[in-house]
Amino acid sequence: MLAPILLFILTVKACIHSPAHTVTTSSSTPPKCNNNTIPLSTREHWIHKSNTLSLNNHPCPFAPFGTAIVNHTTSNPHGDLICTGSNQNSLTGNPTLHGEIAAINNCSSIFLSPRYNMTPAESLAAFQHLSIYTNAESCPMCAAAVRWAGFREYVYGVSIEELIGFGWGQLDIGSEEVIFSGVGMRGRDPEVVLGGVGRGESGRLFGWQFRKRECPGGCERREGGCRPVGRT
Ligand SMILES: [Zn+2]
Repeated sequence: MLAPILLFILTVKACIHSPAHTVTTSSSTPPKCNNNTIPLSTREHWIHKSNTLSLNNHPCPFAPFGTAIVNHTTSNPHGDLICTGSNQNSLTGNPTLHGEIAAINNCSSIFLSPRYNMTPAESLAAFQHLSIYTNAESCPMCAAAVRWAGFREYVYGVSIEELIGFGWGQLDIGSEEVIFSGVGMRGRDPEVVLGGVGRGESGRLFGWQFRKRECPGGCERREGGCRPVGRT
């Protein structure tokens, strides 16, 4: 049986020969990256996964920011889930634990654990073979972390502009501006950047907190917000 670490050195299938990247913010427009061979349905699956991470048996949590880190370089055409993270601010009191940071921390932990048994250097290198899916565009802090990690692909759901439109406080700097501003950094820029993937589903999770918009499925408007149907 192959050791798990070997899974990271198998052939990369998508966008390896070009630095081209594509951002689309319309759910009706499929990703157009010429080197992106992964179907939109697969991308949407992982964004859906990121949507479920913060739910924890609650259909309408206040801060449903979630991230899934996936290996698309194995023989599994769907990709292998490596680790996940969700916003941990209110649980830990740590303001830096956005979904992306939490997921990167979780990946680093399991890479050094007996499961993968990587050295720190191998752990750092592993991120360059992985794809990060986050249900909302990364803030400048997380976008910087995405680039410092050197992810091969970066895929997100709703945009920062959409979050601002929903009423969320945001640092109004696009993630691409941060990610592609690196000079002399380790690793390469992402080979694929896709935005707006699964944004309809993600938008329902993020749209109700500050505006009287439709509640996510399984919730109803009550007591000034969206509450689970049938629960007190
Ligand atoms: Zn963030």
